[in-house]
Amino acid sequence: MDLIQIRRELHEIPEIGFQEFKTQSYLKDIIGRMASERIELVEWRTGLVVKVSGSSPEKTIGWRTDIDGLPIREETGLPFASRHEGFMHACGHDVHMAIALGLLELLVERPLNDDAVIFFQPAEEGPGGAQPLLEWLETERPDLLPDELFALHIAPELPVGTVATKPGLLFANTSELFIDLHGKGGHAAYPHQTRDMAVAAAALLMQLQTVVSRNVDPMDSAVLTVGKMSAGTVQNIIAERARLEGTIRTLTPEAMESVKKRVESLCRSIEEGYECQVSIDYGANYRQVDNEERLAESFLSYAQDVPDIQAVRSKAAMTGEDFGYFTERLPALMFWAGAGSGYGLHHAKLAPDERLLSFMPEFLYDYFKQR
Ligand SMILES: [Zn+2]
Ligand SMILES: [Zn+2]
Repeated sequence: MDLIQIRRELHEIPEIGFQEFKTQSYLKDIIGRMASERIELVEWRTGLVVKVSGSSPEKTIGWRTDIDGLPIREETGLPFASRHEGFMHACGHDVHMAIALGLLELLVERPLNDDAVIFFQPAEEGPGGAQPLLEWLETERPDLLPDELFALHIAPELPVGTVATKPGLLFANTSELFIDLHGKGGHAAYPHQTRDMAVAAAALLMQLQTVVSRNVDPMDSAVLTVGKMSAGTVQNIIAERARLEGTIRTLTPEAMESVKKRVESLCRSIEEGYECQVSIDYGANYRQVDNEERLAESFLSYAQDVPDIQAVRSKAAMTGEDFGYFTERLPALMFWAGAGSGYGLHHAKLAPDERLLSFMPEFLYDYFKQR
C-alpha cells in the first residue's frame, strides 16, 4: 500500500464533522481490498470500526484515528491541495488516517496474539464524535471496546522521528463560548432612548479579562480568549445586538466549572447594568486528555530503545482533543508524533512531513506486538 498516495488522496477530499461521506467510502474501499476473514468492518455514522482477530487473544488493543477536516481555505499550493473549496485537512487527520490504514494492513498480514480494533472516528474538531461513539459502543457493541486504547496527533513543531507524551494530563478541558447581547437599538442621535449593545459588549469583554487574572487560583491555570466580537449594523444606528465568540481552557474540570460560573455572573451584571438580555452558549465541550500512567511509562520506555526514534517527555498543553472522553472511560494514551512543518495546526499552509508515514505504522505494530 502506498501510504503517501493514500494520504494525498485523502488530503484532496476534506470534510467536516459528520459530513465525512466521501472519506468514509474511500476508507471502506481501501479496507475492502485487504479482503481477510480476520476483519470485521462496522459502520458507525460517518465513521468506521474495524476489528482484526488475533491468533490467541487475551485482550483487545485499540487504535483511534480522527477523520475530519476543517473549514479553512488551503494555501499550501501543493499539487494535491484540497479540491473542496473552503475546506482543508489542516490538523493532519489525513496523515492520521494513512497511518491507521498502514497499521491495519500490518495487523491483517501478521496478526497479533491479541485482538485489535481500529476506530476511524468522525467529528473530532466539532461537534465531537468521541462521546457519541463511546455511548454507541457501550450500549450496542461493548464487544468492540478495547482494554487499552492508543492514538497520536501530529506535532508540526517537532521533527520527524520524535514521539512525545507524558503520564496524566496532556491536553486541557475546553469549552466554546458564545455570548449574545440584545438591547434596544435606535437612532445614533438619540442614545438616551436606547441601550447600546456595542458599549455593553465592550464592557463585558474587558470584564472577562479579569476571570483568569482575578478568579483562577494562580497555581492552577486557565485561558479565556475572545477571538471574535461583532455588534451593530451600520455607523449611525445604535447597536441592538452584539456577540462575543471565544474559548475557555482549563487544566481541571473543577476550574472549568468555576470559570463558567464567573462568566455567568459577569453576564448577569451586564444585564443589570446595561438593561439588556445576555445569553450564553457553551457549544462543544471536551474533557481533558488524561493519559494512564502505566501506559505512558510503558510507551516512553519502549520508544526510548527504538533506533531513530526520539522519545520525549512533553509538557501539558492548553489544546483540546475529544480523545479525552476515551481517557475518561478506558486506560488510554495519546502522544505527539513529530511532523516538522513551518506552520502549526489549523494553519492554511500546514504541510506535514510525509516521511512520518514510512515508519510510524511499523513502529506502532512492533509496540503492540510486545504488549
Ligand atoms: Zn484540530
Ligand atoms: Zn487534530
